[in-house]
Amino acid sequence: MSDQQQMISDIEREVAYTRHMIGRSAFSHSVMNAIRLVPREAFVPETERRFAYNNGPLPIGCGQTISQPYIVALMTDLLELDGDDVVLEVGTGSGYQAAVLSRVAKQVYTLEIIDTLAERAAETLDNLGYDNITCRCVDGYNGWPEHAPYDAIMVTAAAVEIPPPLIDQLRPGGRLVIPLGRPYDYQNLVLVEKSRSGEVRERVILGVAFVPLTRSDAHRGIYGVDRSESI
Ligand code: SAH
Repeated sequence: MSDQQQMISDIEREVAYTRHMIGRSAFSHSVMNAIRLVPREAFVPETERRFAYNNGPLPIGCGQTISQPYIVALMTDLLELDGDDVVLEVGTGSGYQAAVLSRVAKQVYTLEIIDTLAERAAETLDNLGYDNITCRCVDGYNGWPEHAPYDAIMVTAAAVEIPPPLIDQLRPGGRLVIPLGRPYDYQNLVLVEKSRSGEVRERVILGVAFVPLTRSDAHRGIYGVDRSESI
């Protein structure tokens, strides 16, 4: 079995273990196909390459991580995307999640606050020929109003609450997925559904551990955490 096939079967096994929490016993064919299509080794530093197909997170520099493949697949599956959808991702990191999203959606807009990572991700995605992903280096708290509304939004950094601009930029009937909770702790992966009439309903899926959503400029620091608080 190739390393990639092993990763696919590890994801499938974890889906089976967690099926009661995640409300599904398998991810869609389109999501699993996207996972098969994206070469994860291209998104990790050379020193981590031999672990690229382990079902675990890996360091990508600047204190950040590429998420565990099962979590990437789960978050993608929860958005229930189709080929006409436009998606916003907050937290580009390596660009891997954006690449997976780009295989199941029409267009992906992705925001990263650390310029080194934003530049590297844009280069990786460009080298691999992804032409429906647009990257920008900015504080994603404010979303990307120019391309709103989005059919789906994915936040891949932990926040204490859903940034209100992201709710505003989600189209009625759209879905948003975000890890909510204290930084440097476990969070709840939360699925947010905005009804056609604009009401917002939240559902906790399962416990996760993400790096924090940070804020730039005047807000510099970790979103929702008082700077005097020690974490
Ligand atoms: N989705 C990524 C992994 C995300 S790690 C991947 O597939 O590799 C979380 C990322 O969110 C980090 O790169 C971090 O720098 C970024 N981040 C944190 N706060 C942010 C903010 N306010 N706006 C945009 N990106 C942010």
